[in-house]
Amino acid sequence: MSVATEREYGLFIGGELVEPASGEMRALTEPATGAPLARTAMAGKEDIDRAVTAAADALAGPWGKTPATERSRLLHALADAIHANRKELSELETRNVGKAISHAKGEVATAVENFRFFASTVATIAGRSHPVGGSLLFYSLKEPVGVCAQIVPWNYPIMMAAWKLSPALAAGCTVVLKPDPATPLTALRLGELATEVGIPPGVVNIVPGDGPTTGAYLVSHPGVDKVSFTGSTKSGSEVMKLASEPVKRISLELGGKSPSIVFADANLDDAVPSSVYAIYYSAGQSCDARSRVLVDESVYDDFVSRFAETAGRLTVGDPLAPETQMGSLISQAHREKVHGFVEQGREEGAEVVVGGEPAGGDGAFYPPTVLAKVENRMVVAQEEIFGPVVTVIPFADEKEAIRIANDSKYGLVATVWTRDPARGHRLARAIKSGTVGINTPYTAFPGIPFGGYKQSGFGRETALETLDMYLEPKGVLVHTGAKPVNPLGL
Ligand code: NAD
Repeated sequence: MSVATEREYGLFIGGELVEPASGEMRALTEPATGAPLARTAMAGKEDIDRAVTAAADALAGPWGKTPATERSRLLHALADAIHANRKELSELETRNVGKAISHAKGEVATAVENFRFFASTVATIAGRSHPVGGSLLFYSLKEPVGVCAQIVPWNYPIMMAAWKLSPALAAGCTVVLKPDPATPLTALRLGELATEVGIPPGVVNIVPGDGPTTGAYLVSHPGVDKVSFTGSTKSGSEVMKLASEPVKRISLELGGKSPSIVFADANLDDAVPSSVYAIYYSAGQSCDARSRVLVDESVYDDFVSRFAETAGRLTVGDPLAPETQMGSLISQAHREKVHGFVEQGREEGAEVVVGGEPAGGDGAFYPPTVLAKVENRMVVAQEEIFGPVVTVIPFADEKEAIRIANDSKYGLVATVWTRDPARGHRLARAIKSGTVGINTPYTAFPGIPFGGYKQSGFGRETALETLDMYLEPKGVLVHTGAKPVNPLGL
């Protein structure tokens, strides 16, 4: 494991790292080792005021007049800069979050692709005309919504920042992005890279800070026009309340308790390792973790033993080692929470087939854990554990599989494993979730809409639909007749 470098980071406001008016600096440690990592400034109210003013000034200034093609060029330039700095960014991400370096590399590459995708979408920003008749000419404009507050969680810091920033900048908005206070480092570097490639000062501002104080203040700020939030359903609901009174535009990407559904006719050689991947990627700290595996009862025992054997073989350890498949959790406190769920599962009658005990040592490690004999009503099957814990639930037939899959307050993604194509498509229509995969564990790519049904939120990320959330359509009506309009006939 590399030696930690304790760099100090300010807040990124107006195109540069600045001292916080709050005066607050926080020490960050590596979750996998407990070693010191960095000291970062935490934004207070005055800092948020400063960042919102910088964003508003940038919108009123040159950025507001920047042609779409130039915005596209700048987004490509930022994608190039992230790619050029991918080694530094992925190592920083790994050390800050504890995630496996192979995953961090993939997420940095995804950040690059998101900037490239949204660079291409500027070509679609266009108004239209409609023949309203008579002497009237109608046309529409699509204007940037304005200053956007974007709030992201700790599980995919650079990828989430890229998901948020890329459509906002493509649309011509300016941004105040609040990373989670525990994982701000790659987002701050992204801010620096934005300046280096020529994105004007104030267009991108990065202000780490606590959620219920700094985050809530940002969401409520009168200078903010739109709020885009990714995080837990509980916090999302708070954010929605704060944004509702001033009627701010809002989109929410929230939690999940997503199912993998394995039918008896599935190719288990594929379904088993893919379902293992779908829960233990990022140590289960993924909104789209398939944390409920629903299995046809006729293959249940075979599936559970193959799944547990595969999960038990995952390489867990030093996140910077290239062969590592699962790193640490985000913190010791989170590990306690995850273990609390496992204990609750035991009390509810679930059987721990593999894992289930926290590893010792300074790192926040928790082993891949399989809970079998789970019923969908149990807390472990209903609540988002957000750790490497899977619940395996039997079903009798297709109807019951659909019922169990939909028996959740969440509806983010689902995966169906079957050799019957008609059944795959039937399930895709019957399941209430934003994405359904058929015989593939993957859920998100630049260009396809990602987001939730039910309490998994509303709005979509990473797609053309996202761009619309950052654009305000304006209708323009023009009188083109030779005589003046005289509707009252006076
Ligand atoms: P969290 O809600 O505690 O925090 C997320 C972010 O919101 C952080 O930046 C936090 O500081 C901020 N925040 C918290 N309370 C706030 C408030 N009252 N006002 C403003 N900001 C506030 O979530 P977390 O535990 O850090 O992240 C994990 C959650 O995020 C999981 O539920 C996961 O499913 C969800 N998530 C969803 C997606 C998605 O695309 N649907 C993606 C990643 C994570």
